[in-house]
Amino acid sequence: MADYDVVVVGAGNAAMAAAISAREQGAGRVAILEKAPRELRGGNTHYSGGLQRFAYPRAEDLLPLVPNVDEQVPGFLAGVEPYPQKRFAQLPVDRMSCLQTLEAYNAAVTPGVFDPTVRDGLATQGLALPKSNWAQRLDTPPFTAWPVTGGITFTFGGVRVNDRAQVQSTSWTSIAGLYACGEMLGGLFHGNYPGGTGLMSGAVFGRIAGANAARA
Ligand SMILES: Cc1cc2nc3c(=O)[nH]c(=O)nc-3n(C[C@H](O)[C@H](O)[C@H](O)COP(=O)(O)OP(=O)(O)OC[C@H]3O[C@@H](n4cnc5c(N)ncnc54)[C@H](O)[C@@H]3O)c2cc1C
Repeated sequence: MADYDVVVVGAGNAAMAAAISAREQGAGRVAILEKAPRELRGGNTHYSGGLQRFAYPRAEDLLPLVPNVDEQVPGFLAGVEPYPQKRFAQLPVDRMSCLQTLEAYNAAVTPGVFDPTVRDGLATQGLALPKSNWAQRLDTPPFTAWPVTGGITFTFGGVRVNDRAQVQSTSWTSIAGLYACGEMLGGLFHGNYPGGTGLMSGAVFGRIAGANAARA
């Protein structure tokens, strides 16, 4: 490691921003250490696809922003592909429980105006596991199905840094040569977070961390 000017740990969005920034700011040799296998590198960045989320009613509404989106993501304008019928029949679920869950959900949805751009308050009432916004009845065919799972978008806690992304010790002094960015960094979010800020935080503090590490 002595041969490197800057060593970056991890290869997600924040780390890559730091590494690029370090090179741009004059670091001759930058090493990136990634623990995961190549196909899984980039932790949460991998799962988010490195994308910022925006709410639009139709795919075509993105064309003014990304005119060649269908070239970049083939089939984007065709919409999402429904779960194939033959696989639907093979879904590993108890069909009767599935139907009862669906009927209970439909009965619990409260009336109102659906608005995907805000928390519209369209909720379910009386379910053990409530849906608090954007609840619409699933009662109009054609129906499609996707396998889904739970996940962690990002963590709120982490190490304390100053405005140069230098990690702070418990006595509030900077630890020489140690910088942090991305999900490693704590103190930015409290209670909740504005959409899109996970990747933005990593890009901003990644660039700051990389630049300061290169200049140190
Ligand atoms: C499903 C999903 C959707 C999301 N949607 C959005 C969105 O729309 N907009 C948005 O802004 N944010 C979104 N986020 C959050 C955003 O993706 C993350 O905040 C961001 O990607 C975190 O980047 P990171 O570089 O800090 O961490 P990661 O991308 O998690 O990278 C960390 C890297 O460090 C590696 N690593 C860990 N430990 C070690 C070790 N000891 N040694 C070496 N390497 C190590 C990991 O393998 C990984 O590659 C979403 C997250 C998820 C999961």
